[in-house]
Amino acid sequence: MSSGLTVLVVEDELAMRRLLRATLEAHGFRVVEAATFADGRRAAAAESPALIILDLGLPDGDGVELVRALREWTAVPTIVVSARDREADKVRALDAGADDYLTKPFGTGELLARMRVALRHAASAAGTPPADAVVEVGPIRMDHGRHEVTVAGELVHLTPIEFRLLALLMQHAGRVLTHRHLLREVWGPGAVEQTHYLRVHMGAVRRKIERDAARPHWLLTEPGVGYRLRDTDEQDDP
Ligand code: CA
Repeated sequence: MSSGLTVLVVEDELAMRRLLRATLEAHGFRVVEAATFADGRRAAAAESPALIILDLGLPDGDGVELVRALREWTAVPTIVVSARDREADKVRALDAGADDYLTKPFGTGELLARMRVALRHAASAAGTPPADAVVEVGPIRMDHGRHEVTVAGELVHLTPIEFRLLALLMQHAGRVLTHRHLLREVWGPGAVEQTHYLRVHMGAVRRKIERDAARPHWLLTEPGVGYRLRDTDEQDDP
């Protein structure tokens, strides 16, 4: 999947940098390392990486601030890896513009799967699909022109809000969308605190698209953070 793409690793822990370098080089990536916020910022501009892997706790700054600084001039896919597993940290990083978030320790298979998703989204980042586009994720097929959703060939009836939610999740399949993001996109900026809207409507979407809504396979909850639609070729969590 990689053939020489440059990945910038911003991480102050030497052991972690070595692990990431070994893993990524074994999969054909070229790896550039930075151990500080300042080096990371410089390398992001100088090396034009295809993807950035970023630690949050850096000796000279907060990784979230680095994401924010990068987003002022580049859309390069950025995956945060951090030992912090507080939900608030994940939400901050994602809202600042990170594409994804992994908590240490993580499996390398999981990291590579998330990287594939991020790189593919970057490649198709021409923006929203045209109005007549058909989007497919696993058995779920959304026809924007006909405003129709089928699951394994069976037509399912979604309300307009359920349709909007599922459209966003499908457009960003594999990525976590935060509560705030979903609420802002579907209900508007005045509703970003109304997470109970999401619980209700995601429950309804699940009952329509999942075989077992109590144990969802496709529409995943990221507790305290948001929701994610599993991508078609995503591996199961190790
Ligand atoms: Ca650190």
